[in-house]
Amino acid sequence: MSTPLQHSHLSALEKLKKHRQLLSVDEYVTGILAHDRAILAQAITLIESTHPDHYLLGQEVVEACLAHSGKSLRIGITGVPGVGKSTFIEAFGIHVIEQQHKIAVLAIDPSSQRTGGSILGDKTRMEELSHHPSAFIRPTPSASTLGGVARKTRETIILCEAAGFDVIVIETVGVGQSETEVKSMVDFFLLLMLAGAGDELQGIKRGIMEMADTIAITKADSGNEQAAKTARQNYKNALHLFPANENGWIPQVEISSSLEKQGIEKIWEIAERYRNEMSVKGWFTENRRRQALSWMEQTINLQLQHRFHSNPKVQAELARIKEKVANGELGPFKAAELLLSIV
Ligand code: GDP
Repeated sequence: MSTPLQHSHLSALEKLKKHRQLLSVDEYVTGILAHDRAILAQAITLIESTHPDHYLLGQEVVEACLAHSGKSLRIGITGVPGVGKSTFIEAFGIHVIEQQHKIAVLAIDPSSQRTGGSILGDKTRMEELSHHPSAFIRPTPSASTLGGVARKTRETIILCEAAGFDVIVIETVGVGQSETEVKSMVDFFLLLMLAGAGDELQGIKRGIMEMADTIAITKADSGNEQAAKTARQNYKNALHLFPANENGWIPQVEISSSLEKQGIEKIWEIAERYRNEMSVKGWFTENRRRQALSWMEQTINLQLQHRFHSNPKVQAELARIKEKVANGELGPFKAAELLLSIV
């Protein structure tokens, strides 16, 4: 016999499947809290939508799920294309699931915002993990006018947590564009590096290394271990030169082989140790508190910019005032004040 919750939840799903129509906020939330992946996926589609009504509905679902979110370990994973991110996440994900966790993998791909294509999305990735009932994989949202990719990812994290995923991986291509954004939404940041290739070759900026809570040297298969161990020592030495972390954490450097499933367990242990140590110190909560405040500030800035530029009076004046500034007839600060006084 089905409980009232299961009943309403089933009928919501049937409704969704049969008519492809939108559900109510309650139906989405009930479905998500009942760990229904189809409804979770639909709700994410809403927050990714460019349709204003769908988007607003999605916002309400996110708001309602907020109280049920936050209980996961959020892990950022980055590295240049070819370093072995998807192979690593697959092996890591399976290991984490074996420890009775549920993992969601979300991607941020800066190339999709520039070119419409995707470095991350074009290949068949994480075959085994994507079919696992305890895993949920969502490709990078395409860029659009409403919100921005980072915001959508943050909202997706909330929905996935409410749907019972207690490990969230945010994957990004390490080409230096989206790492700061990813760092600002995760608890633990893992950088994947190749042995034997110089930092410049890998396009890894010093700033990205400074963000890492752990570096994993990938493809350390048997036979290639020596090169990986040398690289580990080099990175350890390099990390010593960086200023100490505010939270007292000393970044770890490990070697791993996703093909041979070596080092994966160790990296998960480090992530868990990080969570435990940082929780005891109060840093875990403090970091999330700071992140929440910074998201709020970023949102305010974006909204203000949007309001300014979409204001018809500003649009009418902007070209004329720009011209004057360019000609030296009007100073840039005075011009900015003039325009700002319009809104
Ligand atoms: P991504 O672009 O960073 O996601 O990298 P992929 O996971 O697609 O891996 C790039 C290539 O490296 C693929 O051909 C993988 O099979 C290979 N690869 C990944 N991990 C390992 C590993 O542990 N050992 C070896 N030998 N090859 C690996």
